[in-house]
Amino acid sequence: MHLGLFGKFRVAKGSKTPDVVGLVRMRMQSSRATIDLAGPTDCSIGTLDDRAKILKRLGPDPLDKKADSQLAIDRMGKSKQAIGAVLLDQKVLCGVGNVYRAEALFVCGIHPSRLGLALSHAELQILWDTVVAMLRQGVQDNRIITVGPEHLSQTKGRRFRRGEATFVYHRDRCLRCATPIQTVELAGRPCYFCPTCQQR
Ligand SMILES: [Zn+2]
Repeated sequence: MHLGLFGKFRVAKGSKTPDVVGLVRMRMQSSRATIDLAGPTDCSIGTLDDRAKILKRLGPDPLDKKADSQLAIDRMGKSKQAIGAVLLDQKVLCGVGNVYRAEALFVCGIHPSRLGLALSHAELQILWDTVVAMLRQGVQDNRIITVGPEHLSQTKGRRFRRGEATFVYHRDRCLRCATPIQTVELAGRPCYFCPTCQQR
């Protein structure tokens, strides 16, 4: 399974069979609960061999407590690509999308156009640690909020406009210094950054 952005497990406790809501791709049921899988990017059955092949294509997973962080740091640090593009390369590390790459680079003060091999080991270590913290927070929140509660008027149960709960992503101005946000096209998608807080 690849949950992607919208994939979700819905758990209904008890032995009663709940109605199918929307498009359910898989249902697991026992006497204690029913678990429905909805909206995954992929849900398919394969062999152990297929599984090994998929895992081989993917870099370390920041959400995996046993992930080999030094392998990811090594790969980022050897890349001749801009770090903003490297972060989206799932062979280097997996799980980072367009929002998190912009936000993690901002928090670390790294310009997205700097090359991977131009970054120091210390910068790459901080970048990895930041990505780990942000993704874990995202799982906990079940949505992407990268700014602290001091920047949000109210969080619980409220929906956010795009750019409301981020430092630079989809914002007109930097949340920290109010400089107009710029974008640079990296890996085919616009990467948001603050030209003041993130210098080359
Ligand atoms: Zn700024």
